[in-house]
Formats: sequence, structure tokens, C-alpha cells
Amino acid sequence: MKVLFCSSEVAPFSKTGGLGDVSGSLPLALKEAGVRIKVVTPSYSSAQKSGIKTETINDYAVRGRFGPNNTEIFFIRNQDYFKRKGLYQEQGKDYPDNLERFTYFCRQTLQLIKDIDFQPDVIHCNDWQTALIPVYLKTLLRREYFYRKIKTVFTIHNLGYQGVFGRDQFPLTGLDWDLFALDWLEYYGKVNLLKGGLLFSDRLTTVSPTYAREIQTELLGCGLQGVLRKRRNDLKGIINGIDNREWDPQHISGLARNYRQQRPAGKQENKLELQKQCGFVPDRKIPLIGFVGRLADQKGLDLLAPILGALNQLPLQLVILGTGEPRHHRLLRAVSRKYDNIRAFLKFDSGLAARIYAGSDIFIMPSRYEPCGLGQMISFRFGSVPLVRNTGGLADTVIDFDPMRKTGTGLVFDHYEPGALLEAIKRGICLYADRKQWEVLVSRIMKLNFSWEKPARDYRQLYRDVTR
Ligand code: ADP
Repeated sequence: MKVLFCSSEVAPFSKTGGLGDVSGSLPLALKEAGVRIKVVTPSYSSAQKSGIKTETINDYAVRGRFGPNNTEIFFIRNQDYFKRKGLYQEQGKDYPDNLERFTYFCRQTLQLIKDIDFQPDVIHCNDWQTALIPVYLKTLLRREYFYRKIKTVFTIHNLGYQGVFGRDQFPLTGLDWDLFALDWLEYYGKVNLLKGGLLFSDRLTTVSPTYAREIQTELLGCGLQGVLRKRRNDLKGIINGIDNREWDPQHISGLARNYRQQRPAGKQENKLELQKQCGFVPDRKIPLIGFVGRLADQKGLDLLAPILGALNQLPLQLVILGTGEPRHHRLLRAVSRKYDNIRAFLKFDSGLAARIYAGSDIFIMPSRYEPCGLGQMISFRFGSVPLVRNTGGLADTVIDFDPMRKTGTGLVFDHYEPGALLEAIKRGICLYADRKQWEVLVSRIMKLNFSWEKPARDYRQLYRDVTR
């Protein structure tokens, strides 16, 4: 089975969120599962600075290898398009030429496989940045012998980002105007690249079974629920995994002290260090709550904002790491100054993220919607109890703690209301106070395994099905 995996971000070369993590680890697991895989991604400044050794293939691509199993990766080059500070935006503003940039990426990816004579059985595309690949295969390239047999799998990592552009940009795609129609790529008078991906790919996946159902509803379908319902027989939810080697408290660099599941004392040291770094009272008895993520309403920031005053009155400490919408930055900066038990770091910092996973007792993800979410799985590994809303992949991975039966793996709340989040946090504080119970819970979640092994097998099976 030969697969080309295309993604606009691949950690450690580029990452704005979970897509980068997934694209940096799933291909490695697929290779281990026996798939002959090659990865393609843009050559951003961050990739060029990453220190990866590459060889030039031609005037638009270089090749390297990454990960412990030397997975092959191609970087599509273009100084004008990709040598920029951000991946998609700067200072909260999208680059105006994003359609042009990712059209180029899709076209060159298809050109590359021909130039290197790699005819994959399947091209696995991810999110709107790669959505033109299936469109081109079924339209402009459908008669070209080289491409005729290639099947496509398209994964939706977040339906909230669709790659919507003005009608005037449509000609840049090189597609026939016939496709600028309600049944195809047109969406309320604009071009919607994701819609193209959803319509032209042979199979669709998204990153959890619950999210696969949710996106077919008006509430979470982001306007594309009709398209998704039409294609429901081709849509499957496969939960993401995490790279257990990367997210390992025993080996990850940058912690105050590495620790093993059997020795949670190491976790306490990380907590005390984190409390110091935040300027909090260094006290192991106070539950330390962590948040790492994009500062967007999707992540529940609008639930958190109204209860920050109440949290200041509770025996807890809250550390937030994230970047995102300017209004959330303003609020969190002000709150950080005002309250001595809340501290926000408004930056992207993988080292600090690891220290928060390791140093916090509770990790909150009060998301409005969450396709899969990686934070909760990472926090399991680090022994930080996830507190999540019952949605998408969070619903599929976290089981609410039951005080009677003493079962469960975290704290789960249902309603998207500030009061519900506050109640769950209070529940967490009480649970934390019961040291014995807490330690049992921590030791249980650290044993959970959300590695890529099973999801990689599911993808391999899907590739087999689609090529059959
Ligand atoms: P999403 O893809 O919606 O942003 P996920 O939970 O799937 O959310 O993945 C987020 C990933 O990005 C996690 O690995 C998280 O640790 C990381 N991350 C998010 N924000 C930051 C930040 N400010 N600094 C460091 N890592 C971050």
C-alpha cells in the first residue's frame, strides 16, 4: 500500500495546533504498520530553521527524513509564499493570498509525484489547505493516465476552518467556472475549498466518532451539514492518537524533574517549579489548574471569562498558555495583573506547555466543540486530570469520575454554560482534597494508552477499502 500524506503543518517543522501533531506522528505509525508512506508539506521558514538535512529534488522541492523510523518527507518550496513569519496569518490577520499559496501547494504536490514517479494508491489529504488535490484529480487531471487510479481520503480536523475566499479569487484555482456552483465549490457567493474536498474525495474521515455525528447536525455542521449528510456513508470517525515517545514525562526535556508513573513525587517538584514560575504561593495542597490551547471561543474562552472573578475566590491556582484572538489576550493580560492566583502566558511555547502538563493537577478543556483534542490525552500521560466538556473527541476519550463506584478518568460537564464549568471546577477541588482517591485516579489515567497503534490500523484498513 503506497500512500502520500499531505498536510499544511507537520510537527516538528511547523505547528499551530493538533493538525501539526497528527501529521508529525500518524505517518510514522503508518510506516510502522507497513504502509509505504511519503509526506508532503510546505517549506516554511520554521521548517528551514529546524535543522533537518534535506537534498534538493528539483527547483520546487527538497527531500528529508524524520522521526525514529526515517519517514520520508518532501517540502514544497516557494520563497514568496512560504518564507513568512506565520503559517496562515500574522498578528491575528490571515494572509490575503492564502488561496493562491495553497493552490500552489496542491498543484506542486501533484506535480511532484509525477516528477519523482511515485504513483500512490491513496493520497491522504488534511483540511482545506489540501482540499484542491481531490478536486484536481477528479476534474483537470481525470484523463491523465498517471493519476487515473489514485484514490483520495480526506480528513477533517476542524470543520470551523473551511478556506473561504472571495469569488474574484476563483480563477486562481484554474478550475472551470462550472464548478463555481451551489452543488460544487460555491458557498454563499464565495469559494469554499473545504466543500470541494468533501465533495470530490473518495472517503472522508474526521478525528473522532462523536464529531463525525455532530458535524452532520445544524448545531455543529458549520453550514456544511447538508454535504456531510449526503456523504455520510463515506464518512468515518477515527480517534487521533498521540506519540507516546514524544509525550513521555520520563524523557521529555525541559521539566524540573522527569518522572515515572510509579513515582508521582517527580510531578510534585514540577508543580512547585510551575507555581514559582507563575508567581503563585508554592503550596502542594492548592490544586493547580492548567490550560494550553488556542485562545478562541471554540476552546471555551467565553465560558472561562465570566467566571474568572469567581475562580479568584476559590482555593485554586490557574495557569493559561495560549495565543489567539486579541480580545482574549487583552482580558487575560488584565486578569493576570489583577488576580494573584491566575497567570496567563500569551505565547506559543512548547517547553512551557510540557511544564504545564507536568506541573498541573487538573487540565481544563471546556470546549464548545472539539473534533478530537490532544490536550486531554497528553494530560493523561502526565498525570494531570482532564476536566472537559462532553463534546466531540473529549466525549470519546474522557469518562466522568463516579464518586460512588470510584470509576472514571476525568471530570466531564455537559452544558455550555459558565455555571456548569464552575461547578465542575468545584467538583475537581473537592476531589483533589481527598488525597487517596486523587492518587488512585492519577495513577489510573497515567496507565491509559492513546497511542497511534490502533488508529493507524484503522487508517490502513480504510486505505484497503477505498482501493478495493
Ligand atoms: P487544536 O488543534 O484545535 O488547536 P488540539 O488539542 O487538537 O487543539 O491540539 C493542540 C496542540 O497544540 C497540543 O499539542 C497543545 O499542547 C499545543 N498548543 C496549543 N497552544 C499552544 C501554545 N500556546 N504553546 C504550546 N503548545 C500549544
